Amino acid sequence: MAIYRCGRCGKEFDDEQLRILPGIRCPYCGYSILFMVRKRTIKIVKAI
Ligand SMILES: [Zn+2]
Repeated sequence: MAIYRCGRCGKEFDDEQLRILPGIRCPYCGYSILFMVRKRTIKIVKAI
């Protein structure tokens, strides 16, 4: 899962919210230039 930020309104959302819409665009303002802020990684820590 990745976090994106809109190039116009600056709101952040994840790729699950993007999947709702056709194409890649901001779910708030419809702008199509998005920046990937960070990737969410799931860490698995083994208990010894
Ligand atoms: Zn936007």
